Amino acid sequence: MITLALSKGRIFEETLPLLQAAGITVLENPEKSRKLILATNSPEVQVVLVRASDVPTYVQYGGADLGVAGRDVLIEHNHALGGNAAGMYQPLDLNIARCRMSVAVRDDFDYARAVKQGSRIRVATKYTEIARQHFADKGVHVDLIKLYGSMELAPLTGLADAIVDLVSTGNTLKANRLVEVEQIMDISSRLVVNQAALKLKREPLRRMIDAFASAIPK
Ligand code: AMP
Repeated sequence: MITLALSKGRIFEETLPLLQAAGITVLENPEKSRKLILATNSPEVQVVLVRASDVPTYVQYGGADLGVAGRDVLIEHNHALGGNAAGMYQPLDLNIARCRMSVAVRDDFDYARAVKQGSRIRVATKYTEIARQHFADKGVHVDLIKLYGSMELAPLTGLADAIVDLVSTGNTLKANRLVEVEQIMDISSRLVVNQAALKLKREPLRRMIDAFASAIPK
């Protein structure tokens, strides 16, 4: 049995065509079913649904043989383990679930001025490692406030001056009177594979990785 870990939403939806290229169809719709293990048309392949940030953990410790996770999630996971995400390969950038990691502020906050003056800036984010590295590289002093969701609310309530968050269309920022002031990095999702599984189940995993590679969107 091969177990693939996916998170619901964009990653699940955008992985379906890659699975299709490998001849695999998922038999249940995660938006309709409450099941966490989804069967496929192949008796040897199943999909497990986990939180996006749990995908690397499942793959690293062998709860899944492979998975799809965003670059953001992989960077934060790697840091949480002190840079020791052993036991996991990242053979492919799948070029799906694309977005960017950006700094955003309230539209009446003069970010450029605050940076120029060397003010301490309060930054709320779920992505503390990416934010820490970014501001350290720029030489900007920040107080990081860890949040787990609804980051857009932080500048509106006075909790923070700025946020670091994923931006795709920019609609969420606009709806909350926030403006993007810096793009930190482009984000896309990658395939991650458990190293021991790749040895033990070499043939079927290789076939799947090759099929995925042939179907990566441009
Ligand atoms: P948008 O309004 O299209 O700019 O999307 C921004 C919202 O969607 C933010 O709350 C992000 O955290 C989330 N988001 C956008 N793209 C992704 C992605 N690839 N993976 C996870 N969350 C995302």
